[in-house]
Amino acid sequence: MAEVPRLEIRNLRRSFDGRAVVDGVSLQIMPGQVTCLLGPSGCGKSTTLRMIAGVEMQDSGEIYVDGKLICDTVTRVPPERREIGLMFQDFALFPHLSVEGNVAYGLRGSRAEKRARVEEMLGRVHMQRFIDMYPHQLSGGEQQRVALARALAPQPRIMLMDEPFSGLDNRLRDGIRDETLSILKEEDTGVLLVTHEPDEAMRMADEIALMRDGRIVQQGAPYNVYTRPLDRASVAFFSDAN
Ligand code: ADP
Ligand code: MG
Repeated sequence: MAEVPRLEIRNLRRSFDGRAVVDGVSLQIMPGQVTCLLGPSGCGKSTTLRMIAGVEMQDSGEIYVDGKLICDTVTRVPPERREIGLMFQDFALFPHLSVEGNVAYGLRGSRAEKRARVEEMLGRVHMQRFIDMYPHQLSGGEQQRVALARALAPQPRIMLMDEPFSGLDNRLRDGIRDETLSILKEEDTGVLLVTHEPDEAMRMADEIALMRDGRIVQQGAPYNVYTRPLDRASVAFFSDAN
């Protein structure tokens, strides 16, 4: 039997003030696949992710998780029931909660069950010994790992990541990208990673969806998209960014 995509979006559209910001975006992400939505600032990447997360409503189009319709103009599963994990640039750790409290935040079950799951997830990101600390006591990279553990703890079917590494200094970034990727690969979740940096997409993606002016203009394996850009605008995007 054919595998069901973890995430499928069909023809998503959203306008602000009469301007189409997301203009008919369709995508499928399979289990274990990392797709990068890559494109210049302002092309509609975050709006696309926000609609999938359920914090922004589309004007039209459908969203499916595991083949189940979670959102169209009639049906609307609330964000917390979409089984989607989020790592957004501005979606920081809760400062008043310990590392344990942060990772336990979206979990259900008894105290002991939650504790066991928190320990397991912190183990996976090599942060067990920080369990009782608070976010301000951690470095940027450590906070990032806790945020990853928090997002993965409820076993989301799909992970949405919006420029998750942009707040880190250059020195750390490559290491954390690689580490994050290897943890995501162990989870077999589908990942949609938004970035405006070709380097990041080349490093992390199984597939790149190149976005411009609210549309996906080219999609494929990173090497193919990079070496065979569709048009001058794509060439300019790849060369400007480097
Ligand atoms: P990206 O993440 O690719 O940089 P965004 O999806 O954040 O792009 O934004 C795409 C465009 O939509 C931008 O021009 C932005 O100003 C506009 N936009 C996003 N959200 C809103 C909003 N709530 N109201 C009006 N315009 C918005
Ligand atoms: Mg954005």
